[in-house]
Amino acid sequence: AASAEEQPSSSAQGIENVVIIGSGPAGYTAAIYAARANLKPVVFEGFQVGGVPGGQLMTTTEVENFPGFPDGITGPDLMDRMRRQAERWGAELFQEDVEFLDVRNSPFTVRSSEREVKCYSIIYATGATARRLSLPREDEFWSRGISACAICDGASPLFKGQVLAVVGGGDTATEEALYLTKYARHVHLLVRKDHLRASKAMQDRVFNNPNVTVHFNTETVDVVSNTKGQMSGVLIRKADTNEESVLEVKGLFYGIGHSPNSQLLEGQVDLDAAGYVLVEAGSAKTSVEGVFAAGDVQDHEWRQAITAAGSGCIAALSVERYLTSKD
Ligand code: FAD
Repeated sequence: AASAEEQPSSSAQGIENVVIIGSGPAGYTAAIYAARANLKPVVFEGFQVGGVPGGQLMTTTEVENFPGFPDGITGPDLMDRMRRQAERWGAELFQEDVEFLDVRNSPFTVRSSEREVKCYSIIYATGATARRLSLPREDEFWSRGISACAICDGASPLFKGQVLAVVGGGDTATEEALYLTKYARHVHLLVRKDHLRASKAMQDRVFNNPNVTVHFNTETVDVVSNTKGQMSGVLIRKADTNEESVLEVKGLFYGIGHSPNSQLLEGQVDLDAAGYVLVEAGSAKTSVEGVFAAGDVQDHEWRQAITAAGSGCIAALSVERYLTSKD
């Protein structure tokens, strides 16, 4: 493999080979592969998640399911390692949000508040944002009792063997509730409406599971804590009577969906009804030649760090192939 020093500087006429937008596992993995392929990728890392690069994992503590770390690793540490690996191979990183994108004309235009870059290809890896309820004590208990990912956190010591609650009435919430029954003592599903929006099959599975109690017409008002400052319950309000009560639970999982960060591509690249970037099955190709998408912004189903990283790898290898075919 070539060392970073041996790589060519920018491509001809100041037009970059590839611009990568996003600094989650998808963006950094794409950057590592593109840099190692001598493509000199330019990465706009953004800082939309918590004002720092690194994406969603910057908001979590332990990541226990990323291969290669048998004792777990913190989200920020994992992302710092990915970042340094991309840098080591010569990726050029800018901690800036992309504010404007034109992929209607090639070379494409990418603009932040600091610079404008022209490029032959783009890897769009801007992730998705888990919707939040904006409870008064949400920030205080985020990752300390409140989670947006049952697969990521369900088995953690904080939640294992405990009574837990899930908020939401759609497929995500019902899936989270059923998944959590593998580890939790009992799961309460808090549904604002008087019915579930989830598919009939999911509804049947929830109603037939003795370890799930469904609470309809129930609004989640806030988190309550014990004298040690640990989460001890959820304050709920019955929509029909306005009666408030505390449900004793040790964890609250949000199952109210995600918003893909695909705004910059709106009207230029095909998106699905929920705003996810549509890619050709099994590939990273979007509806526009030369524009590739990776990670959660094109994946409403799996949403894991490893799947995002895998799709970032596919996107970078696809770019390499695409640019070679253009030569
Ligand atoms: P993201 O990580 O969302 O990163 C997207 C990046 O794009 C961000 O850096 C953002 O700033 C940037 N961006 C957005 N818009 C712009 C713009 N206009 N210009 C420039 N940059 C932009 N998964 C696991 O596998 N294991 C876990 O234990 C786990 N725990 C989690 C805990 C929490 C609290 C959360 C929220 C998620 C967790 N996940 C976990 C899921 C995992 O974080 C995501 O699947 C993964 O981060 C998706 O990677 P991504 O690269 O697609 O996007």
